[in-house]
Amino acid sequence: MDKLKELADLMFPDVVNDIDYYEKMYPKRNLEDGARVTRFAPSPTGFVHMGSLLSAFEDYKAARDTNGVFMLRIEDTDSKRTVENGIVGILNDLKNFDIIPDEGMIDEEHSIGEYGPYIQSERKLIYHTYAKHLVLKGLAYPCFCTSEELNETREIQELNKERIGYYGSFAKCRSLTIDEAIEKIKNKEEFTVRLKSPGNFNNKITLHDEVRGDIEFPENDLDIVLIKSTDKLPTYHFAHLVDDHLMHTTHVMRGEEWIASFPIHDQLFEIFGFEKPRYAHLGLVMKIDEEGVRRKLSKRKDKEASVEYYHKEGIPSDAVKLYLMTIANSNFEEWLDNNPDKDLGEFKFDFKKISASGSLFDVEKLLNISKNYLSRLSAKEIYDNLLIWTNEFDKEFYEVLVNNKDYAISVFNIERGGEKPRKDYTSYSSIRNFVFYLFDELFVNPKYEWGKINNKNEIETILSTYLNSYFTLENSLEWFSKIKEMCDNLGYASNMKEYKKNPELYKGNVADVSGVLRIALTSCANTPDLYLIMNLLGKDKIEKRFKKCIENLQ
Ligand code: GLU
Repeated sequence: MDKLKELADLMFPDVVNDIDYYEKMYPKRNLEDGARVTRFAPSPTGFVHMGSLLSAFEDYKAARDTNGVFMLRIEDTDSKRTVENGIVGILNDLKNFDIIPDEGMIDEEHSIGEYGPYIQSERKLIYHTYAKHLVLKGLAYPCFCTSEELNETREIQELNKERIGYYGSFAKCRSLTIDEAIEKIKNKEEFTVRLKSPGNFNNKITLHDEVRGDIEFPENDLDIVLIKSTDKLPTYHFAHLVDDHLMHTTHVMRGEEWIASFPIHDQLFEIFGFEKPRYAHLGLVMKIDEEGVRRKLSKRKDKEASVEYYHKEGIPSDAVKLYLMTIANSNFEEWLDNNPDKDLGEFKFDFKKISASGSLFDVEKLLNISKNYLSRLSAKEIYDNLLIWTNEFDKEFYEVLVNNKDYAISVFNIERGGEKPRKDYTSYSSIRNFVFYLFDELFVNPKYEWGKINNKNEIETILSTYLNSYFTLENSLEWFSKIKEMCDNLGYASNMKEYKKNPELYKGNVADVSGVLRIALTSCANTPDLYLIMNLLGKDKIEKRFKKCIENLQ
């Protein structure tokens, strides 16, 4: 028997087909010209980091803009990074931002699409088939070096200031004869499968990066590992080749940490004669930390790095998406300003507008976007969305909302709509603090923050005089003129100009008196229009609140 074939069979006893079998099984996709096929390829770690969400969003947008395909492929070849139910966690995080893959995993075990399996541990046989193909062509070989031997080689290279890696004369197993290799495998020696790199380090190749433009590299000459020894799973490099080839990915959008590996990937595609994908290497998501230092947004240190955080905080996913779009493409904000009424889908994603140096993640800016976004929703939309959020995160508030639907909608309607809507809510979690005093169920143990007028007797006088002689909700003009009248009678200035001229003539002014009414009703010094609040509460509640307040003063 052909010795090389004997070796290949021994290395891959599981392989029964050749690569033609798979080439036929996964034919070219039938898509429009220019349609992009992209994929998000996380490890099943159970959650999505903000940087990954950004790249998933960019993958999704790049495909969607061109009627292409966006896939979710799970890269579980590193068992250390695999967690139970990790795929569902990722899918949920994506779903919260309406990033729904067209193809790929839909739960821990199932997938949709014709180009699967979409989880790498289930593709082992496919990788082995492609690796065997290389062995048969004399372009891959078994390597029996132990980690001690590899360390030794590295130490020698460091000592002699040579390039680190398994190449040229350092690639010991490259020179084993086929018979020697066969013998070792028969003796059950562990082996990895390595590429027999045909490259020359003195040659140059160019990466035409979609984001960064052309970058020149020396050709790869490393005999990199294709298949690992213990679990016989592929390395990232080899899985990238096999998967993105068979799935017909047109655009590989991935973290910049992979740029340095480009020569390896380019060579693998070259050797097989496969059409090469385009590459877009995305910059890191950065933040400016408390010390003013620009650094990578860290999963470990920064709560805002996990997308779960936005869900818990109740920052609307549409606002997060708007923000992601602003960091994904530098011309997006201008587009949005010029096209406020257009659907976001009409904005076309452009690789050239991605920042190569990484994007600064600015929570303040995100909250600002969220604030604007929430200010544009109708009271009913706020109600509906808040119901969903509170149902998960604030059951007490949820019950109150369910039991007082129409009233709650009128509360959210305060100063909403029109040219200049009120902008106070930054997230769904922030709303309770702005409205709690409008619901008796939430207005318990109020802590009154008194202002200038903080004398017990004076407060009591103002509250009871108001109720007994000046209370009206007729209309806002009438309402205010009554308050002013009361001011005049109690020794406060009803006219601010007068007050400013001669403050010593008065106990205080109309703003101080309204402040007392406001605080007695709400416990807060700052609220929306007091007349609107009084209207919502109605006379009975106002009386009760004043009584409660007076009791509290005792
Ligand atoms: N699993 C790889 C990572 O998480 C994917 C990189 C790629 O998109 O090719 O970095």
